[in-house]
Amino acid sequence: MRLILLGPPGAGKGTQAQRLVAKYGIIQLSTGDVLRAAAHAGTPIGRKAHEIMVRGELVPDDIVVAIVAERIERPDARKGFILDGFPRTVPQAEALDRMLAERGIKLDAVIELRVNEDALLKRVESRIADMKARGEPLRNDDDPKVLHRRLAAYRELTAPLVDYYRSQGTLRTVDGMAPIPVVWAAIEEALPPKAPAAELTPAPKTDKNRAAGS
Ligand code: AMP
Repeated sequence: MRLILLGPPGAGKGTQAQRLVAKYGIIQLSTGDVLRAAAHAGTPIGRKAHEIMVRGELVPDDIVVAIVAERIERPDARKGFILDGFPRTVPQAEALDRMLAERGIKLDAVIELRVNEDALLKRVESRIADMKARGEPLRNDDDPKVLHRRLAAYRELTAPLVDYYRSQGTLRTVDGMAPIPVVWAAIEEALPPKAPAAELTPAPKTDKNRAAGS
């Protein structure tokens, strides 16, 4: 199963991605998580990304495309993956199409979590206030001003992907404002049934990949 979760910050992509991981035994690839880890590790890319992320802007396409290309190559991505927070621009979506075509694989679905922006802002702002009150650590971009900018970036650069994937026939839209279990039920309904176990077991080793040490 190869999926994209599309939706603005705070729409609940991460929560639903975890459920998809558990159900399908596939990996979640959050470009935001990879960039935060790189920032934390202080790598050159991480430092550059950090400056951009705290402003609520988007990291350049070539950086995130390279992250995804590297991650989907790894053996644990063979059963499938959920892309969470990628693609975020039309050029990223085009790069992904090329990447998948080169590997002879296809997306099963793009799940759009549709939300009401005003309600979403209130939801995220109250979550931030609750976390602050409890003294819990916040992400650098968990700040109402930054959130406004992230939502604006979504509207301008990412929302066009809804039409992009609709025209490819892969788009499934669910109501992201519903309670978490209701959103989950809608996602399950929108997806093809779970593959039988036989399809999920790794391919038997051939002489070719045995020789390659895989
Ligand atoms: P997220 O955790 O998905 O909300 O991403 C946090 C931040 O990481 C975003 O606001 C961007 O600055 C950056 N980021 C994550 N994924 C991408 C992407 N696909 N393209 C550009 N920037 C990204």
